[in-house]
Amino acid sequence: MFRMTFSRSRYDAIVVGARCAGAATAMLLARAGAKVLLVDRGARGADTQSTHALMRGAVVQLHRWGLLPAVIAAGTPPVTRTTFHYGTDVMPIDIKPRDGINALYAPRRRVLDGILVDAAVAAGAEIRFGTALESVETNGQGRVRGVRLRDRGEHRVMLAADWVIGADGVGSAVAKQVGADTYVQSAHRTATVYGYFAGIANEGYRWHFRPGLSAGAIPTNDGLHCVFAGVPSDQFRTRFGTDPFDGFLGLLSAADVALATDVYAAGPQDGLHRFGGIRGHLRQSHGPGWALVGDAGYFKDPVTAHGISDALLDAERLAMAVMRGSDRALAEYQAERDQFARPMLSVTDAIAVLDWDLEEVKRLHAVLNHCMKAELAHPPGGALPARQAA
Ligand SMILES: Cc1cc2nc3c(=O)[nH]c(=O)nc-3n(C[C@H](O)[C@H](O)[C@H](O)COP(=O)(O)OP(=O)(O)OC[C@H]3O[C@@H](n4cnc5c(N)ncnc54)[C@H](O)[C@@H]3O)c2cc1C
Repeated sequence: MFRMTFSRSRYDAIVVGARCAGAATAMLLARAGAKVLLVDRGARGADTQSTHALMRGAVVQLHRWGLLPAVIAAGTPPVTRTTFHYGTDVMPIDIKPRDGINALYAPRRRVLDGILVDAAVAAGAEIRFGTALESVETNGQGRVRGVRLRDRGEHRVMLAADWVIGADGVGSAVAKQVGADTYVQSAHRTATVYGYFAGIANEGYRWHFRPGLSAGAIPTNDGLHCVFAGVPSDQFRTRFGTDPFDGFLGLLSAADVALATDVYAAGPQDGLHRFGGIRGHLRQSHGPGWALVGDAGYFKDPVTAHGISDALLDAERLAMAVMRGSDRALAEYQAERDQFARPMLSVTDAIAVLDWDLEEVKRLHAVLNHCMKAELAHPPGGALPARQAA
């Protein structure tokens, strides 16, 4: 039966989506003293469709927030080397101890997102899983003033907030409801198939590139490796439509026969995960009483494995802007994000073509490396400003 509750309690912020972008934003706002509600339509502790190699930017954020020990305690193996394979050309790079970290990590999403949710709750945020956004509510002047939520028992509730933050992923309902404009759209997209395999030696991150193909292996929790292969999206059905494991093995064999042999021997732990590809975007990410963070506002093809890193960096930029509390601060958040996002999106799109020769993709990776260094050189600023008295 339809039931509706009107709550008189008002939140400083309601964050829709409790994964890396939303949970991190909620944690930072709650740590700064804000009254925060974090909601997700999914279940607590679920994985999501994503491989999860963290780049230095993400690991540095987790370190700065005091959460790296929890990632390590969850049995996430350290990654001390990353190796690029361009055809038969092998380029190993050791991870230098710097910025307070001496290794990279690739926690399963249920591990990473769970740690961020726990940290948000520990900081005082309220969390509701199994709760979906139904609508964003506005006042007579068009300013967002709250949300209508629905739980699994069909119970609806109207809640008021100064800020509604959409951290609800690439198909963001918040973005749709507020009419957020998409002002950059990528041209290319890759399809990815991945699975989890036991018995593979931890040689760090392994990235393989051949014209028309990207593949790799990512050491993760429970002694497993996340092994993936990517092709242009228009080949998704022909490669993976009939027998996905056969198609996957064929691509891996082209990239690295030894890895394909290990994968064949182990077999996937819980089947294969398939992602057909979505073109990247930059969306308008702020307006009166609302903001977007993570994939909701900025999505790029997974070929550069950088979405989680950017989500964690942008979570802090947004939290700082919300605590400043002005529309201007929110505009500055988007401008700062875009300063790094535009070149990153552009080089990601060029790599996602998968139609380069090996010298060209090496050059594109040099550009990508430059983008990552630029972002690391300008981390979200110091301490979060204290909450203004109401
Ligand atoms: C195949 C693939 C591989 C990838 N590999 C990597 C990688 O190796 N490294 C990397 O850094 N990035 C990678 N990415 C990118 C990364 O997954 C994303 O950038 C990241 O998940 C963005 O996090 P988010 O919190 O913004 O959104 P999401 O992780 O998408 O979370 C959004 C949340 O919002 C919730 N939600 C949605 N709608 C509603 C609603 N109406 N009401 C309530 N809740 C709602 C969902 O349940 C979900 O939990 C990959 C992506 C894909 C698709």
